[in-house]
Amino acid sequence: MKTLEKLVNPVRRAGEQSPGKIYDEKLKVRARREWRGLKDTLYDYTRWLYLISVLARFIMVPRNMKGFFRYRWMMSYLFVPHGMDKFTIGLRDEALRIAHTSFNFVIADVTQAIANCFRGDRRVGNDVAYSDKCVITDENSMVTFMMGFDTKKVHTILREVPTMFASNIFHQFNVMHYLDVAQQYGIPGDVCPMPEAEAGISIDDDFCVLGKCAVQNNTTCDGSLMGNGIIAKRLEREYGIPTFQLATPLRHKEPVNDATRCRIAQMEINSTPYPQFFGAAFSLYNDTNYMGNSGRNADFVTIDHKLLKLAQQGYEAKRMYAREYRHRCIVWGVQPQYVIDMLYWMVQCWGVVPLTDMLSVINTDMIAEEDTPENREQAYRDMAMLNMEMIMRNHTHGGYKVLVDELWELCEKMNADIVMMWEHMSCKALTGMHGQFEEQARERGIHIMWVSHDLCDPRVFTRQAIRDQVNNYMRTVMREEPLDPSLENIPDNEAY
Ligand code: SF4
Repeated sequence: MKTLEKLVNPVRRAGEQSPGKIYDEKLKVRARREWRGLKDTLYDYTRWLYLISVLARFIMVPRNMKGFFRYRWMMSYLFVPHGMDKFTIGLRDEALRIAHTSFNFVIADVTQAIANCFRGDRRVGNDVAYSDKCVITDENSMVTFMMGFDTKKVHTILREVPTMFASNIFHQFNVMHYLDVAQQYGIPGDVCPMPEAEAGISIDDDFCVLGKCAVQNNTTCDGSLMGNGIIAKRLEREYGIPTFQLATPLRHKEPVNDATRCRIAQMEINSTPYPQFFGAAFSLYNDTNYMGNSGRNADFVTIDHKLLKLAQQGYEAKRMYAREYRHRCIVWGVQPQYVIDMLYWMVQCWGVVPLTDMLSVINTDMIAEEDTPENREQAYRDMAMLNMEMIMRNHTHGGYKVLVDELWELCEKMNADIVMMWEHMSCKALTGMHGQFEEQARERGIHIMWVSHDLCDPRVFTRQAIRDQVNNYMRTVMREEPLDPSLENIPDNEAY
């Protein structure tokens, strides 16, 4: 088996040494804020206040207040500051700033997306002129195809992002109601809860209604296609919004530039002994920037460079997220890591560093930048390539070469000795490869740790049930003791 040398931080970290003690099973939030030493606690607290101010500014607009009372899922946004705290466990210095900078920017972006939905929504703002300039776009699509239009005149609306995806980050139970609605309607319970919840939201008539037309995608799987059919029926037949199905190829392995360059540079830093930008903040920021933004919002460029600068600073100072690194880990499979503080927990509790995850390993090719006659033709190819490389489907439905082979290439490149394999029990494409992964990991001497979950349905696997799979593996197979025993059992199953 591959073994790596332990890396020990020579500097004693300021503040709390056992952050697991700040959880209380009687509370839905932590008992108190984490003490990180004066400088970092102050920084963390001012960012917490910033989030409260973003929410306050949003709710002061009368139509947003109206939307808040109309839509059930809006309740989740009351817990945004707590949601952010989930992803800063044990963080100090640059790592803390990287998590806040990326996450807070994503939150501001989602807040704007909700405001846009409410503005055009027939039940809330009913701004018909605005609504007529909007195209509803499937959250599983690359929105680059919208960049051929003047972005001031034609707007992209990703309804599922604030309604289901982002709201679930802040409140782990928020989609249960919609899953029940879908199942009462006859959809089986073993469908992936993500498309099932989206279908349930549509059945419950709890999506904002706006837009001149809608574009759906044949991603990412059969569950997704099922949900799209139900959503399209309501959009077209009840609301008269024509819905187009964009069909893109599924099997591939053939041969937004500034963002891509920054992402490659971050991955380079993560392949060294001192990785800097990883965890849920890394993947969520990447998802949002690559697929949801796709070059629409120029502010992402500034944030990309700020994050890279912080990572370079952290790398030069040899900063570590925890007091000891024991294993370098690639996180593979479809992840629930936005709902749980899993990746930061792994490094704090067991010294397992999650260098990168499957959904963040996306396209690294540059696209044409200059407007020349040849590049106009090339732009179509670039768009097709970006669609082909879309998050999630590019691995789950891209065939054996991208799902299995690419994992081992990445382990080698990042010098990883362990793979944490998320086993999303309702995502069938990955489950079929279980034996192949096992066999090949053995041949390569790489540890493979299977961790089952059911994405956004916490009734099937609670947070502690998910963490216990890692606890058991580390104790029984790796024969190790936790770095921080206060984190082995955290009473947060009932927390938002
Ligand atoms: S997690 Fe799997 S089953 Fe669920 S939407 Fe993604 S590809 Fe489909």
